[in-house]
Order: sequence, then C-alpha cells, then structure tokens
Amino acid sequence: MSDRPAMEVDIVCVGFGPATGGFLHTIAPRLAEMEAPPTVICYERADGLAFGVSGVATRARGIRASFPELDPSQIPMAAPIHEEKLLYLLDPTGASRRSVPVRMLDAIAGLAHDNHAVELPWIPGFLRKDGGLVLSIGQFNQWVSEQLMMTGAVQVWPGMPVAEPLIEKGAVLGVRLADQNGEPGMDIRAALTVVADGPVGPVGRRLDEHFGVPPGFERNDWAVGSKMVVELPSDCPLAPGTVFHTIGFPEPDIFGFFYVHPGNLASVGIFVPSWFDSPVRTSYRYLQHYMMHPFLWQYLKRGKLRSWGAKSLQESGRRGEPWLVGDGYARIGEGSGSTNVLSGSGVDEAWSTGVQLGESVLDLMREKSPYTGENLKRTYVRRRRESWLDKESRVAENARNGFQRGFLTGLIGMGMAGMTRGRVTVHASRRASQDRVRSMEEYFGRRIPQPEISRIEKQCHTDGVPLHDRLMDRLGWPPIPFDGEMLVSHQDALLIGGKVQGAAGFGDHVWFVDREMCELCRRRICLEMCSGEAIAPAKDGGAPVFDREKCVHCGACLWNCDNIQFAAGGGGLHSAEN
Ligand SMILES: Cc1cc2nc3c(=O)[nH]c(=O)nc-3n(C[C@H](O)[C@H](O)[C@H](O)COP(=O)(O)OP(=O)(O)OC[C@H]3O[C@@H](n4cnc5c(N)ncnc54)[C@H](O)[C@@H]3O)c2cc1C
Ligand code: SF4
Ligand code: SF4
Repeated sequence: MSDRPAMEVDIVCVGFGPATGGFLHTIAPRLAEMEAPPTVICYERADGLAFGVSGVATRARGIRASFPELDPSQIPMAAPIHEEKLLYLLDPTGASRRSVPVRMLDAIAGLAHDNHAVELPWIPGFLRKDGGLVLSIGQFNQWVSEQLMMTGAVQVWPGMPVAEPLIEKGAVLGVRLADQNGEPGMDIRAALTVVADGPVGPVGRRLDEHFGVPPGFERNDWAVGSKMVVELPSDCPLAPGTVFHTIGFPEPDIFGFFYVHPGNLASVGIFVPSWFDSPVRTSYRYLQHYMMHPFLWQYLKRGKLRSWGAKSLQESGRRGEPWLVGDGYARIGEGSGSTNVLSGSGVDEAWSTGVQLGESVLDLMREKSPYTGENLKRTYVRRRRESWLDKESRVAENARNGFQRGFLTGLIGMGMAGMTRGRVTVHASRRASQDRVRSMEEYFGRRIPQPEISRIEKQCHTDGVPLHDRLMDRLGWPPIPFDGEMLVSHQDALLIGGKVQGAAGFGDHVWFVDREMCELCRRRICLEMCSGEAIAPAKDGGAPVFDREKCVHCGACLWNCDNIQFAAGGGGLHSAEN
C-alpha cells in the first residue's frame, strides 16, 4: 500500500495568478451562500500570493465587469490610466544592432527628437488602453486574495508547488503536490482540476504530453519580461497613470514599458523576445541600458530601486491554445493561450477566462452535472468562444509573424493585422528560439573579428563567467555606473526588495537532461540568458550548475534549450510590488 497521504476535495486549482483570481472571485460569493458548499482549494507554488512580475497597463474590461464598483484607490499601486504615449527610442550609445532600414528610420526620426525619443503622433486603437488601469500584478493578486479570504468559501495556499496531474483512464482525478523534506507530496483528489499555472507551468505541460495538442498547436513565440519597481525622485513630474510604451532601444527587437503608480513608484521593464537572435540574450543588463536611455533617465535619475523581477510570457496566443477541457479538468489563463499579443495584454484576458470557467462551474453545480469534458465544453468552451476574448485572439493570431523576418517587417505586419482586424498579415514560419539563435560568429562576426570572439570565449571559460557582459562591452555598450541606489549588480538586485530564496525542503526544479550534451555544447544559452544567474558555468568546465536559491522561476531556460527540464518548485517570489 502507498504511504503517500491523500485528501479529497471538490475543486483543486493549480497556481494563483489573475486567471485563478477571476475563477475564484466568480464562484466564492455563491459558495458562501450554500448550506453545504463544495471544498475548493488552490495551491500556489511561490511562497506568497503576490507572485508576479508584470507592471500592468490593462483596459481591465473583464476585471471591471467583476468589480462594477471598483475604486482603484483601494488596490495598492493601482491608478486609472490618464496619459499614454508610444515612443520610438533612438540609440544614443551607437552600440545597438541596427539594420540599414532601421538606421534610415533613425535618421528621419532624429530630425525631431526630444532626448533621443520621438513620440508617435497617434497610438493605434488596438494598442491603446483607454479607460484602463495601471496595476502592480503582485499587489493586485494580493488584493484579490484578501477579497477571497473574506468570503471564507475558498482556500488559497502559497508555498505548495503542484508536481503533476493525477491522470487515470483518460481523466484527470486531481493533482499531486511536490515532495518536501523527503516526504512524498500529498495526492489531492478532486472532481475538477483547474489548471492555471501560467506560461511555463509543469501541470499544463504534462497534460499536453499526455493528451496531445490540437492540430496547428505551436508555442514558438515567447518573451522574457524583466522589470524593476522604482521609487521616483520626489520632484518627478509624471502623474500616476502615465503609460509609456517604447520601441527601438536597447535593441530594435526589445520593446519596453514605463508605468507610473501612485506613491511616486514606477514599473519599468523590457521584453526580450524569442525572435531576438543573439546567443547572449541577457535581460538584466539590457534593462539597465534601457533605464539609462536619456528620455527615461530624465525621470529615473536620483530614483531608487525597490525591486526587480523576471518572468516569461507565452506569446503564441491563440496558436498556443491547448485542449481547453477534458474529463475532470479545465485550463484557464496564459497557459491556455489567452494572452493577446496584438494589444500586448494578458492580465484581463487571463482573468476573463477564469470568470468564464467560474460561471460554467456554477451552471454545472446548479444542474448537478459532472465535470466531464463534454459538459465543460458546452459551458466553458462555449462561453469562451462567444466572448470578445476569443474574437480578439483570432485577430491577433498572426499579428506578430513579421518579427520573424525583422523589426520593421514586424511593425508593419502588426499595423496591418490591427487595422484589418487580422485579415491581412505577414506570412512567415515561426521557428523555435533554439532553432533561430545564431552562433557567436554569425551574430557578432561583422562587428567583432573571429579570433577576438574566440579569445573572449576562452577567457570567460577560464574565469567561469558568462560571455554576455564582455561581448556587450566589446560592442560598445557603456559600462553601467553602479550607484548602489538605482543601478546595482545583478546579484544585488536579487537581494533588494524581494525574497527570492528557494523554500526549504524541495528538490532542484531545473536540471540538465543530458549532461554530456552540455559538456559538448558551445552555445550555452542557458547560462547566458538565465534571469537570476541561477545557472552558472561549472568550475571544472563541465555541464553548467544550477543554484535553486537564485532561481526566479522565469522559465526562460525552458524555452531556450530542449536539454533543460523545468519542474514545480518553491520560492522565487521577487517582491509583492512586482
Ligand atoms: C514583465 C511583464 C510585463 C507584463 N505587462 C503586462 C501588461 O502591461 N498588461 C497585461 O495585460 N499583461 C502584462 N503581462 C502579462 C501578464 O502578466 C500575464 O498574461 C498574466 O499574469 C497571466 O496570468 P495567469 O494567471 O494566466 O498566469 P500567471 O500570472 O503566470 O500565474 C500563474 C501562477 O501559477 C503558479 N504556478 C506555476 N506552476 C505552478 C505549480 N506547479 N504549482 C503551483 N503553482 C504554480 C505561478 O507561480 C503563478 O503564480 C506582463 C508580463 C510580464 C512578465
Ligand atoms: S542546457 Fe546544456 S545543451 Fe542546453 S544550452 Fe545549456 S549547456 Fe547547452
Ligand atoms: S534557472 Fe530559474 S532564473 Fe534561470 S532561466 Fe531558469 S527559471 Fe529563470
């Protein structure tokens, strides 16, 4: 007999992000009215319910529908959007990699710039967040969890990673929690398992492996979002609710954002996309160069770093939609393909999928119907298909194809898709990042002579450090003038504001599948892009080493190399302000 502990509940949820927030917020008030309510429990991997990284600008249609009386001042760091700008940032350093057409664009834009930035005269409707909100995702999640706790109808447990779904005879029967302190994780048996584990969740991936994926399914578009929360100087003129979307710098492929919160705080971040072909795609240093761009620095200088974080975004949207339901399970949120890459919006979409599932579950409870794939299809999937979310996801489906061919083609493609409601798009095959990333010679060959690349590579191996800093130095990126306040080393950023350390008792959640392959690997993109410097060169030159204490669970390693496994693990909460 198995000595694994087990527990029976009615509904178990995996992950507490906006998607689960929407789900639980929809069902909790109704459960609270029932005489014998079903048991609903949610397990969140991170050691706090404020896990998240995005500094959010959102139209908040779904969120406002759930909270018709919403007063943003009740949510810490939330503000109505009052000013939105789309800026093209020129390269004041001369180090950015710009194609000839981009240089021509720079020359034209440079005729009328303000601090090396040009404000576009108009923001396309599909990008605008009219009437929306600026939020901190961590604070929003925390606020939602407080509302839920007040109902007393559902339980939300942080610090409890879910290892895998329990699947028997083609049905999901619940989940298994991760082993801890040598004790086997508990089996949680449930009539319905709600999978909302975000862009790199192991439970969702396990379902895809077991049940397969729909025809045409593909998840080659990703980005690593890296961001800082900054205390702005007291005389900063920017009002809460100010939103800057930026393109053009630090590399044309890297988009950025600057959102102002109440309390003189701002979220400033970048997205390093899967189509950025550099083999040393560090997001941390690029983020610092971004912040030091003269247009942004005029507001940020004399500010103070409050926290930093990084997290993946699944940007395949509708193309990455898995089977949404099956016997005993339903999928919601970013892992279900809800993020809209045309509008650059994921929170409200994730929330709304949760609401749709919540309404469907209440229908099925009323009917006393079981959570079969068929019943979930006629309730949840039907609601989703009939909603704005599904229609907009169709429009966005191929909107970013053009970036596979280059920055300008990408922008044109996005504009065409947005303007024609998805009828006209650029055709391009979307290759996985590991198939696209170029070798050092291909990528840097024109700017750094081959023998010098080899010399830098050899020296970095000898010193046991990644290549990215030295290659960026060599390309002319200026050194970061660390000031201990705003510009700090990557290691210091890990310690500021957050509590990244892995919770005690769990095993490593990242490992290298074939270590021999790692020993032979020259590209080593895993350590070049690791957001937390958790993957580092081994002292003996063998396979890289992983340090669980530094891992921020961004998931970037997973999508950059097939030889990495990324499983459920504890820790990684950056800061509740993220
Ligand atoms: C830097 C950045 C900026 C962004 N900016 C915006 C923006 O301006 N506007 C916007 O609308 N969207 C933005 N997004 C996207 C947005 O944050 C996501 O689309 C949204 O958070 C998705 O919500 P979700 O609930 O589906 O998943 P998530 O928010 O990813 O939540 C999933 C949760 O599941 C947990 N989990 C994962 N695995 C397990 C497990 N095995 N066991 C238990 N728990 C698990 C995770 O810890 C996490 O808390 C941004 C994202 C980033 C990274
Ligand atoms: S995980 Fe191994 S094979 Fe993959 S990039 Fe890193 S060193 Fe190379
Ligand atoms: S090891 Fe952790 S911090 Fe590094 S890329 Fe992977 S998930 Fe991100």
